[in-house]
Amino acid sequence: MQDLHESCGIFGIYAPGVDVARITFFALYALQHRGQESAGIATAEEDRIYIHTDMGLVSHAFNEEELALLKGNIAIGHNRYSTTGSSVICNAQPVLVGTMDIRLALGHNGNITNSSSLRVELEEKGYDFNSSTDSEVIANLILSSPEKEIEGKIKYAMRRLQGAYSLVILVNDKLYGVRDPMGVRPLCVGSLDGGWVLASETCALDHIGAEYIREIEPGEIVTIDGNGVRSTRIESERKALCIFEYIYFARPDSLLNGRLIYTTREKMGAILLREHPVDADMVMGIPDSATAAGIGYARASGIPYHEGLIKNRYVGRTFIEPDQRLRELGVRLKFNPLTQEISGKRLVVVDDSIVRGTTTPRVINMLRKAGAREVHMRICAPPIRYPCFFGVDMATRWELIAAQKSVAEIKDAIGADSLGYISMDGLIEAVGQPSDIFCVACFTGNYPMPVQLEMDKLQLETLPLASLRSLSEIET
Ligand code: SF4
Repeated sequence: MQDLHESCGIFGIYAPGVDVARITFFALYALQHRGQESAGIATAEEDRIYIHTDMGLVSHAFNEEELALLKGNIAIGHNRYSTTGSSVICNAQPVLVGTMDIRLALGHNGNITNSSSLRVELEEKGYDFNSSTDSEVIANLILSSPEKEIEGKIKYAMRRLQGAYSLVILVNDKLYGVRDPMGVRPLCVGSLDGGWVLASETCALDHIGAEYIREIEPGEIVTIDGNGVRSTRIESERKALCIFEYIYFARPDSLLNGRLIYTTREKMGAILLREHPVDADMVMGIPDSATAAGIGYARASGIPYHEGLIKNRYVGRTFIEPDQRLRELGVRLKFNPLTQEISGKRLVVVDDSIVRGTTTPRVINMLRKAGAREVHMRICAPPIRYPCFFGVDMATRWELIAAQKSVAEIKDAIGADSLGYISMDGLIEAVGQPSDIFCVACFTGNYPMPVQLEMDKLQLETLPLASLRSLSEIET
């Protein structure tokens, strides 16, 4: 729901003769939902890399002059939500590492679980760090490889990294796309004007007029240059695509494993009706992520669907903290109830998930104040009992309401008349694919790879930083 955040959106383009910086800018716009703390673009022209990063939304991070300075035929772009390292400019991406011999720009979506030990090792070898992100650890690990070719260097890094990573990398005159061996975070490839693009989600391809080709496979490295697209891979023991991409993160108009997210969410709603039916007058979804599931519940039940809350779409993560009075108003900053629709009605309210359980009671309270007679919450995710270590900023285990309370206790704590979570089997049925290709660890505690419980997202900030420098200027 509103207190769950994805780590990042990434994009890459190789397209001679095209304004690659501007295309990347528009693609990052389409991926804005994946990260709103900072944005950045790096381009390459011959042996030069140009880079610009800034805090805030894509629309705030770039102006015409800055885009015009980003020259070249290749670009990568990044939207950030911090899962490792603070929300400060030195942690904005793409990261740039290397010397004049080999310079490498990299954008990362995910979270590396062994980044602390790798960073210590790299610092002992003399590699400098300018940020507290695990993404810079990945970039320096690639550079540190004894292999000669870039593909070999990337494979070396992949064999040493643990965790989740989809990457776009720019080195010299080549663009690389990489997905970790479990494929925790998505990445797809498309074509545009005789060139090639890489993106976290297919919705970015649609917005720039690119044609979707396929997803990058778990463990795959694609190399894109003047000879087209080549593929190589490292071994992948099991797949573990984050199932929350279907529930919440991905945009409803994106395709993932060939499934439209919108249709999958409609199915979640229909399955919620089957598992938790209730007599009611109106179904509504919490906008935007639960709208499709609300429609699915309404269609399957015959209960009319209406919008009950209007979302202010321009409230992103802002650097201006609301003052005390507005903080007390809480969700009022984000939602306004349609009182005439709600008043006197028994509502089914469909939402994507309950994490800490701090936002849901405020929403229910708002609906009751608007005259709702009953509020029946239906949730598209099973109870979240375990934290995520793979790029989703959830909470520690102790903050997760479902780790501390039973469903009946949560119902009382949030002030609902009834509460129904989709079952694990129901969720798998909705996504329509075998359960063993997904990560479902936040529901089950069965992590697909080793994790260090209670890992700290600021863990790399306890390490000395060689220096902090702003990446907000164009570098050549
Ligand atoms: S733990 Fe949950 S949120 Fe994290 S990757 Fe796995 S399914 Fe996704």
